[in-house]
Amino acid sequence: MSKLVNTEKSNQAFAEAKKFMPGGVNSPVRAFKNVGGSPLFIDHGKNEMITDVDGNSYIDYVLSWGPLILGHADDRVVAALKQATEKGTSYGAPTVLETKLAKMVHEIMPSIEMLRMVSSGTEATMSAIRLARGYTQRDKIVKFIGNYHGHSDSLLVDAGSGMATFGITTSPGVPDDFAYDTLTVPYNDVDAVKQLFDAQGDEIAGVIVEPVAGNMGVIPGTQEFLQTLRDETTKHGSLLIFDEVMTGFRAAFHGAQSLRHIHPDITTLGKVIGGGLPVGAFGGKREIMENITPDGKIYHAGTLSGNPLAVTGGISTLEQLSEADYVAMKKRVVALTDGIANQAKKYGIPMTVHHVGTMWSAFYSAGPINNFEDVKACDQDLFEKCFWQLLAHGVYVAPSQFETCFISTKHTDEDIEKTIDAYGAAFAAATR
Ligand SMILES: *Cc1c(COP(=O)(O)O)cnc(C)c1O
Repeated sequence: MSKLVNTEKSNQAFAEAKKFMPGGVNSPVRAFKNVGGSPLFIDHGKNEMITDVDGNSYIDYVLSWGPLILGHADDRVVAALKQATEKGTSYGAPTVLETKLAKMVHEIMPSIEMLRMVSSGTEATMSAIRLARGYTQRDKIVKFIGNYHGHSDSLLVDAGSGMATFGITTSPGVPDDFAYDTLTVPYNDVDAVKQLFDAQGDEIAGVIVEPVAGNMGVIPGTQEFLQTLRDETTKHGSLLIFDEVMTGFRAAFHGAQSLRHIHPDITTLGKVIGGGLPVGAFGGKREIMENITPDGKIYHAGTLSGNPLAVTGGISTLEQLSEADYVAMKKRVVALTDGIANQAKKYGIPMTVHHVGTMWSAFYSAGPINNFEDVKACDQDLFEKCFWQLLAHGVYVAPSQFETCFISTKHTDEDIEKTIDAYGAAFAAATR
């Protein structure tokens, strides 16, 4: 049933975009450069489907890179946003909505006793790092190779996501001094963490980690690894920061921290917490958060932080999610990844599938996949071929193996079956 996708209008739009924006995009992985093609320009989305400007529709597993857990243009989110818009999109003065969202987040993730809203995940992690440094009066930060925490200077070292996709280890423009204070360690490497803390523990302000890595595909942090981080940071007076920008409300409703029963000192959030609007947040223990301006001296501010529109996006999304939704989404993710693994076996394709909650990845490798080096060894050519075949069969997945795919409450059993069939067809074509 292979249909040839006509992307003429997308191609024209891309040519025009390239004249005025670097690479034609506002975020690099969107450009489809590493899969050797031109991106689809999207006209609209509804529920689990997106439609491009040429009128082709796809089952969407990118979901704006995670935020859209209720799918595109959810009816209740749209209605709430319309109402909020009519009341005014921003005042730069407090609203009761902000407290409502902070309280909701505290109830979902009790380790977050106090919360500050920002406008992106990048801002959340950048602010969390400043807080850790200010609170401990130390400069060094530990991060893990292949974890991505947004694009602030201190964290753009050995990062995942677009950095990994385009093979950039350190971005030009990041002063050496920043990189010097960022110590990097392989993910899931317990011995390396212990050695680093033995040598420099008393200089380390904080450890930032994706408790389930999602920016090199889905790779769960092991219990031993995350427990070691909790133990070493406590022992040396450093702060443990869980970057749950992706995993919050995704790895589980209560975040990856609930799966591992480990409480970080600070948690960063983004993506789902904005329900598709630009939002991030960071929060944690009261005694730490109270050091932020105006109560303390560690500076944080934002013209549009916690604006009513963005906060409404978050509230109307979180309000609609139930434990039952997570059970249903997980069941579909398991069916999907099992189905993909079976198709791979049938066509003799080495493949390792991972899933945690509503996040999943199909790595083109026999595995095991535990860290960044393992992902780098995946078969990029085969991934690329299958990526285009999947599009031709109406399935839109992340255009890089260093990215995670997602599911929403709107994906149906029928979508899952269609997607498994599409993988079968893609594998058949790619191995022909
Ligand atoms: C997406 C992401 C970020 C950055 O968030 P932006 O909103 O893109 O700035 C930070 N950390 C993690 C774990 C992410 O997945």
